[in-house]
Amino acid sequence: MRSKQLYINTIGCQMNVYDANQIAGVLAPLGYTGTDAIESADMVVVNTCTIREKAEQKAFSFLGRLAKSKKDNPAMIIAVGGCVAQQEGQAILQRMPHVDLVFGTHAIFRLPEMVRRIEASRCRIVDVRLSETIEIDDPTVGSLVDGQVAAFVTIMRGCDNYCTYCVVPHVRGREASRRPDRIVDEIRLLVAEGIREVTLLGQNVNSYGDKEGLCTFTELLERVNAIDRLGRIRFTTSHPKDLSEDLMRAFGRLEKLCRHIHLPVQSGDDEILRRMNRKYTRADYLNKIERLRKVCPEIAVTSDFIVGFPGETERQFQRTLDLIETVRYDGLFAFMYSDRPLAPASAFSAKIGDAVKKERLQALLDLQETITREKHADMVGRILRVLVEGTSRDVDLPGSADQSRNIRWTGRSSSNHIIHFSAPQEGSPEKEVLTGKFADIMIEGAYAHSLWGRMVDRSEGSTSEKGEASIAA
Ligand code: SAM
Ligand code: SF4
Repeated sequence: MRSKQLYINTIGCQMNVYDANQIAGVLAPLGYTGTDAIESADMVVVNTCTIREKAEQKAFSFLGRLAKSKKDNPAMIIAVGGCVAQQEGQAILQRMPHVDLVFGTHAIFRLPEMVRRIEASRCRIVDVRLSETIEIDDPTVGSLVDGQVAAFVTIMRGCDNYCTYCVVPHVRGREASRRPDRIVDEIRLLVAEGIREVTLLGQNVNSYGDKEGLCTFTELLERVNAIDRLGRIRFTTSHPKDLSEDLMRAFGRLEKLCRHIHLPVQSGDDEILRRMNRKYTRADYLNKIERLRKVCPEIAVTSDFIVGFPGETERQFQRTLDLIETVRYDGLFAFMYSDRPLAPASAFSAKIGDAVKKERLQALLDLQETITREKHADMVGRILRVLVEGTSRDVDLPGSADQSRNIRWTGRSSSNHIIHFSAPQEGSPEKEVLTGKFADIMIEGAYAHSLWGRMVDRSEGSTSEKGEASIAA
């Protein structure tokens, strides 16, 4: 079979990164292998996102530029997948004559058949059917994990929560969970390819398996924790309303589960939370944070925030800043509210102007930066265990002795902090030395978004992190 070149452009969240790998996996039997050279590609897939208006614009502007590539290379197949494809369907073919295929968020497993038809007859296809269940679910490992240490694994798709600002339930469909044995098989395949860390993905992992009567999410974590040679487990996202006592306790007892939780709160004001349909109050949220920190004192907590939700007053925004000061997050993502035509909040009145949204976003980010700096400063002098992801040539490490004889590496702590560090070269081929292994790093300083330090052995001090000792390579 002739080898054909596949170029994938992924915009958006981790689910799209995972889907890109699935797309590569299902197209491999047709002879497609990944390429970085778009102009000579036989097929280009644009994996789109519509969570905010900007992401959608980015997808359309990339697609627009592809018209020229198609003119220069008329045999090229151009396919649009992901959430914009699901939302716009047929309209994309009408708007963009150079596009051959529009496939929705549930159509990835039907891709090979569609691509075969296009190759044979150069027809144009739209498939945006949504289904209530996950029909075909064969564990697939695409070529995109090559050389990587960490990978995403989708455990469920869709969402039933209907937050009023959010397009996800409308473009990813109803919540449906994969069977635990399929998930475990897939992780085993990834581990065999060299993956040491997995992040389990779902819009609300707390309701994993509920509908289908599968095991609970905590039981799934236990099964993944038992996989040989897997080093670390992360998951995202946990909806605060459903975060169970059982799952909180898992942070205290599962040794591979990273000591980090991403718990998006969106706002610190009860009235805004109610109008967002989040189904928890500020007090509920703070109680859960307190409980988590009791079970696992070293746990890092991060969150998502939306500023400028319709009708948000200055006082309500101040409640959000106050919540951030109370929780003292380890990091956060903040977004200006963006109208999504399919989401109910787009019809809410009292929209907030861009200037105010920008101001609020900046105030929020400034506050978090201060907290991050203080938290980073507290980490200096501690030893953190890092899973090494690779070398980091572009990063200077202030103060590290004799940089020329040392190699600079990058990894992550269990708490999800990015850590750069130096280690002696010792004459061996550098790539193989530490990538995919655990290393203990004495933290010596901090940049705005990362920490730096030097590799030590355990005898130099005690680490504040639990677990992982048994799985260090
Ligand atoms: N399921 C996750 C949850 O409930 O937290 C998050 C899913 S969404 C892909 C990621 C983040 O995008 C949300 O937590 C929210 O902060 C942000 N977001 C979603 N819709 C938005 C909108 N219309 N405008 C601005 N930000 C939005
Ligand atoms: Fe969107 Fe809310 Fe579902 Fe998250 S839980 S995907 S924010 S509807």
